[in-house]
Amino acid sequence: MSDFDYDLFVIGGGSGGVRAARQAAATGARVALAEEYRLGGTCVIRGCVPKKLMVFASEFRETLTEARAYGWDIGEGRFDWPAFRGKLHGELDRLEKVYRKLLDTSGVEIFDARASFEDAHTLKVGDRTVTAKTILVATGGHPVVPDMPNAGMGLVSNDLFLLEDLPESLLIIGGGYIACEFAGIMNGLGVEVTQYYRGAQVLRGFDEEARGLIADAMCERGIDLHVGTNVVSMGPVDEEEEERLGGDIHMEEDLLPRARAEEKGPVRVKASNGTEKVFDRVLFATGRDPNTSGLGLEEVGVKLGRRGEIVVDDYSRSSVDHIYAIGDVTRRLELTPVAIREAMAFVQTVFHDNPTPVDHDLVPSAVFTQPEFGTIGLSEEEARDREPIEVYCSSFKAMRSAFAGAPDRAMMKLIVSRESRKILGCHIVAPHAGELIQLAGIAVKMGATKEDFDRVTAVHPTMAEELVTMREPVRTA
Ligand code: NDP
Repeated sequence: MSDFDYDLFVIGGGSGGVRAARQAAATGARVALAEEYRLGGTCVIRGCVPKKLMVFASEFRETLTEARAYGWDIGEGRFDWPAFRGKLHGELDRLEKVYRKLLDTSGVEIFDARASFEDAHTLKVGDRTVTAKTILVATGGHPVVPDMPNAGMGLVSNDLFLLEDLPESLLIIGGGYIACEFAGIMNGLGVEVTQYYRGAQVLRGFDEEARGLIADAMCERGIDLHVGTNVVSMGPVDEEEEERLGGDIHMEEDLLPRARAEEKGPVRVKASNGTEKVFDRVLFATGRDPNTSGLGLEEVGVKLGRRGEIVVDDYSRSSVDHIYAIGDVTRRLELTPVAIREAMAFVQTVFHDNPTPVDHDLVPSAVFTQPEFGTIGLSEEEARDREPIEVYCSSFKAMRSAFAGAPDRAMMKLIVSRESRKILGCHIVAPHAGELIQLAGIAVKMGATKEDFDRVTAVHPTMAEELVTMREPVRTA
């Protein structure tokens, strides 16, 4: 028994922190966890889970259209946001309780309070002071907004789940996961969506062909997507102010009254493409930063990176020997299942005396755009820079949507090493691509070759059969 109050103290009750705490406690260690907000963290409370439920809700509009094309006699229908929102929050409350129960039954002591370092082994937790032999920081991240006047008028992803009413029009700024997912969700729920992305194509870093197809599908669905476009200025729509200025909508930014952070009414936005428009709401989906400020990390010697992330080694150990960090706070791969794997590797390393590095290679993931995007491994562009490749790609109208007369195209794409014949990348744009890439990911992670894929008999009629029936490369590079 050490002289410390706890063998492990976990700061942060998200997916990573909770898993680490439970598994460490299962070894007989004395474990405590502090969470300042709600157990479950970003994924459960304001990320993956509510987002996916909103994806489901938003897809019914298209399903109804399809149903009519298949002979069903149904009317337009109407989406009832308050009814859905009530159920959504009921579900989140339920999940939060599940997390609390899991920790309780594992014997983890829960502090519903913020924790910060007093010294390298001592934490101030609420109004208590505790000591721990090992400390795990799993505090996650938060959305960031550009540093510009009136940016406080914009919403961030956290706010979307709490809206009293759905806006009639929404401007989304950004072109990453969150921007594109919410563009699809809000469009599906009947909101008029405009999206400004400063780069040349949304979803930077992913396979270019896939990005193009998704962007096309987003536009076909009615999202007013403008690439190469950013916000120049934004401000309130103030009638008095406008009148004083003779109704001139080209107001200078500094003439506009300063927006209060909580004032999230209609916003007038001047864009780099020369337009000036009013939107009911503006959403900044312009990235996330790690939650490290005010924790006292640097004061106890923990090294932080340029964006404030905790710098860790392959075993999630920080620059201070007994302080570890996992999940978004380390800014490695910001995905829930990755944080969970980091948690399990940490417990192996520290509590099972089995040093386990975290494997960040070939991680499958999905972007819940409409249509979905599932991906693993290298994009064609990345692979081409590394070695000679063959590209197999099939883009087609899926049976279900073709019958319904929908314009959507699905895409199955394999990037193959010419030398080893291994699949270096697999990219799927299609309904349920997230489900498909989970399974294709097993083969890719096992090191399957193109010929291994070819040996598998097609399941007919499916979309995924294309993955095993593509015979000739569309190009080599
Ligand atoms: P991303 O980093 O993916 O995207 C941020 C976007 O905002 C980029 O398009 C970026 O442009 C743009 N941007 C950044 N700064 C500015 C600025 N000052 N002005 C205008 N545009 C700006 O962040 P997200 O917040 O979308 O997601 C964060 C992470 O969360 C993701 O990387 C992902 O790991 C995770 N996530 C995963 C999901 C999933 O698995 N389905 C769902 C949601 C999130 P540019 O490309 O030019 O830098």
